[in-house]
Amino acid sequence: MLKLKNVAKFYYNKGLITSGFSKINLEFKIGEFVAITGASGSGKSTLLNVLSGLDSYEEGEMYINGEETSHYTEKDFEEYRRKYVSNIFQNFNLVNSYTVYQNIELVLLLNGYNKKEVKDKIIELLKKVDMYKFKNTKVSKLSGGQKQRVAIARALAKETPIIIADEPTGSLDSNSASKIIQLLSYLAKDKLVIIVTHNFEQVEKYVTRKIIMNDGKVLEDVTLTKVNNSKKDIVCNDFKTISNINKIRLGIRNAFNIKTKFLLILAVFLFLIFAISSEYSFNKNDEYLESIDGYNYYFDSNPKRIIAKKENKTEFNELDYQNINNIIGVNNIIKHDTLLDVAFSFGDKNDEYYLYGHVRDVVNIKAEDLSYGRMPSSKNEIVISGNKDYNYFLSDHPEKLLNMEILTRNDYQEINTGEAFKIVGIILEESSNYDFLNYMGNFTFYGNDEFLEYFSAKTIDTYSTIKQIINNKDYNYLIRFSNLVPKGEAYIDETFSDICKDDNCKNEDMQLNINNIYYSSTLNLKITNTYNNTSIKKLLNIDNYEMVGNYIYINDEEYFNLFKDKNYQISIIVNDDTDLYRVNNELNNLGLDTLVIKDTFYSTGTKEIMGLFKDFLMIGLLIALFFITHFIIKLILKSRNTYYAILRILGSSRKVSKHLLTIELLTVSSLSYLIFLGIIMLTQYGVLKLNLTTMIKYLGLKEYIIIYLITTLMSYLISLRYARKLFKDSTMNTIREEV
Ligand code: ADP
Ligand code: MG
Repeated sequence: MLKLKNVAKFYYNKGLITSGFSKINLEFKIGEFVAITGASGSGKSTLLNVLSGLDSYEEGEMYINGEETSHYTEKDFEEYRRKYVSNIFQNFNLVNSYTVYQNIELVLLLNGYNKKEVKDKIIELLKKVDMYKFKNTKVSKLSGGQKQRVAIARALAKETPIIIADEPTGSLDSNSASKIIQLLSYLAKDKLVIIVTHNFEQVEKYVTRKIIMNDGKVLEDVTLTKVNNSKKDIVCNDFKTISNINKIRLGIRNAFNIKTKFLLILAVFLFLIFAISSEYSFNKNDEYLESIDGYNYYFDSNPKRIIAKKENKTEFNELDYQNINNIIGVNNIIKHDTLLDVAFSFGDKNDEYYLYGHVRDVVNIKAEDLSYGRMPSSKNEIVISGNKDYNYFLSDHPEKLLNMEILTRNDYQEINTGEAFKIVGIILEESSNYDFLNYMGNFTFYGNDEFLEYFSAKTIDTYSTIKQIINNKDYNYLIRFSNLVPKGEAYIDETFSDICKDDNCKNEDMQLNINNIYYSSTLNLKITNTYNNTSIKKLLNIDNYEMVGNYIYINDEEYFNLFKDKNYQISIIVNDDTDLYRVNNELNNLGLDTLVIKDTFYSTGTKEIMGLFKDFLMIGLLIALFFITHFIIKLILKSRNTYYAILRILGSSRKVSKHLLTIELLTVSSLSYLIFLGIIMLTQYGVLKLNLTTMIKYLGLKEYIIIYLITTLMSYLISLRYARKLFKDSTMNTIREEV
């Protein structure tokens, strides 16, 4: 059934051609038990490998059941081996990390049997080779003779007509050796068994034929016992390929099979996952820090702030506030928001103290925040707050400021004007977090609604265009207020000679026009008085004409009505930066024109370039990580070469081996990913005290999915690369390397 006609085998090695054997003519039949002997290097192993389909041949023709094989491809030989040949080796080639049972199960699963139907068969085979009681023992724990018996059972499991054994007793003591030979001779009854041996006496009693090889040629070929020729050909059962479920079973078994290998690969993948996710998060964090690192000259640069106006330019009402507050992510609404962007200065009557800072709504503080005093209870009462380390007036006896009256100062901040406010409470801030404004010794002044309205009116005044029309002529004088000016009247400086030609301006009608980005309004007044540097004291109770002369004075109530903050504009502060643009969208949907303050920040322009550079860096890092991971896993998997070589010997195709490797790596990488998720969760619940805050902050569902996909893709690519390397060498080379 197996015939060689003038077959020759050469080895090509770095340009050197060696002959394995040449011009061999042999024919083998079922029922024969053939022993091949000869000196070392005479070509015995080479011959067996060619007969097994493990090595190719260069000349002549090998026939199996009369079919030529010289045109066979690697795939054809895979099929040939699965159909016809089982091998037994001197070094057993068993999977050491599997149990005896699993070793035999492996060959059966690879040949398409299902898990249930193999059980009885395996037990029967193990009994046949007298290894049943070791069925759950790991192969690594067996003696040489026991291993070889398992190898024989495995060879029988495939039910091939040919068994080829290369020095099967070479590493066994004579007692075990003779048992193995007996077993093989028993099997040879309905098979073709070919063995190579150094020790012909050992097999003499059993073999039916003896072949002596010398220098790559057959020196002698003697038939010792004639075998019954009736069974010339053998019909092979058509084999199936391994089912997907069994591939997964084996792949998962292999993943956990060798504990150190499993733990090492697990650690490598964990490293990979943490490296990817922390690189991603730190990148995001950098981007975020850059984005809030900007500033804007005109606005209070709070990156969580959105300025909003209504599209129809009307005032905000309670319903609007409700709708805005209903948006998830809105922290608070700042009504007098122009006050966010301007600072004011105050001074005491004796000019000893000078306080500078922003005014804020008293609702932002609580009584328990106070270090001294109490909360304000009227328009003219305020709480001041400042850093006790950086603020000159608060660092030493801050209580001296308590109950002090302070007055707003004029536009040049040189002199006290306007109203007086009483400091009823003081907050001393801790210097724990560095703040530029605190460092400058700035204050915050907290007051009630009326207090805020006063300052917002002053602010709108500053931002407004003010025009007077007298006798159809336009003038542009600034205005001031005093409760000594009656309603409907205005007092002007008599030095305004363009109005008061020939002291003629009294009783003139004056139309006051106010224009700003929010509204325009008009007030009709009559000029009833003029003042000069002496009469100003009597008329307006003002001492320092030099500072506050050259204005038009009107009634204070009318002034505040004119510049009242009509809530045409508000600011919305969001809870978290991540809410910013979503909240902005929802504000737009409510019919608001918005300005996201963060978008107005000045950037240096290198940001975009840096961004591009970072993307490259990220891709580079991923590639580097891939190669690092691949390199380490390759090292770890080196010990797996034998395993995959054994798979091929047992008839597994390249595709199946590749699948098994992929499943093995995907199992471990998925498990690493689950452990990663577990670590994240335990950290979030405070069980693990790890510093992963930045990482967790930037990882959402999308990121978790992407990280899983990257990890999976990487382990898949690694398995492909590794498989390619594994199959680059022929089976025999892999085995030779490992032996
Ligand atoms: P034996 O098994 O009888 O000891 P081998 O079949 O191993 O002999 O070797 C036969 C000849 O082929 C020897 O000359 C040996 O050096 C050569 N040979 C065997 N394997 C290789 C190989 N992989 N590459 C090159 N030469 C080889
Ligand atoms: Mg040999």
